[in-house]
Amino acid sequence: MHDIFCKIISGEIPSERVAEGDDWIAINDIHPKAPVHVLVIPRAHVELADVTPELAGKLLVAARDIATKLGIDKSGFRVMINHGEHGGQEVSHLHFHVLGGKKL
Ligand code: 5GP
Repeated sequence: MHDIFCKIISGEIPSERVAEGDDWIAINDIHPKAPVHVLVIPRAHVELADVTPELAGKLLVAARDIATKLGIDKSGFRVMINHGEHGGQEVSHLHFHVLGGKKL
């Protein structure tokens, strides 16, 4: 697959990486909707329909740990998935948004 996140993961398109693990990377969203707006993206091209409980768990734990790393764990944050047309999904490659740094 050649969606934009596959190109970011391969390094073909540059991104600001805030953290990474064996199965995922975390980057700053190019159009942030909050002072902290990070995307947690599986390295493999996965969509919501295919995700395993194991990978979903790793992505959620990554989102939690990134919130701690970026200092928004105490003030609070939002973890979000947009899915499909009505959900406002733009990129067909599973990703969790982590938003915080102000009251949402
Ligand atoms: P979706 O609506 O699919 O859940 O969200 C896709 C997100 O990816 C959007 O918030 C958008 O700003 C972000 N995005 C799209 N293209 C790029 C890019 O090239 N680099 C980065 N860092 N974020 C992107």
